[in-house]
Amino acid sequence: MSMTLTIGAVPHFKTRGFSGQHTLERCEDMGCTVTPGGAADCGRLACPSCGFSGSNLTAPDGFDGDQLARCACGHAWNPRPNREQVAA
Ligand SMILES: [Zn+2]
Ligand SMILES: [Zn+2]
Repeated sequence: MSMTLTIGAVPHFKTRGFSGQHTLERCEDMGCTVTPGGAADCGRLACPSCGFSGSNLTAPDGFDGDQLARCACGHAWNPRPNREQVAA
């Protein structure tokens, strides 16, 4: 297997469990990475800074116009979960 990681690509990890009891596991998709828009190759929303997805993320609910997803690492970004699709 060849290493084809793009420079700057963030590997996707999943978090499981509750706060303080997190376990991390690599995404089941081999070579899954997270785009700057927070879209992991497997289709999940993930933090483009640390690559984690799961209970560390707060998804935007649009309340008060808030469109930012936030991660427990402190990163906040405007999520674009569908890299192929363009919102109508
Ligand atoms: Zn993934
Ligand atoms: Zn993060």
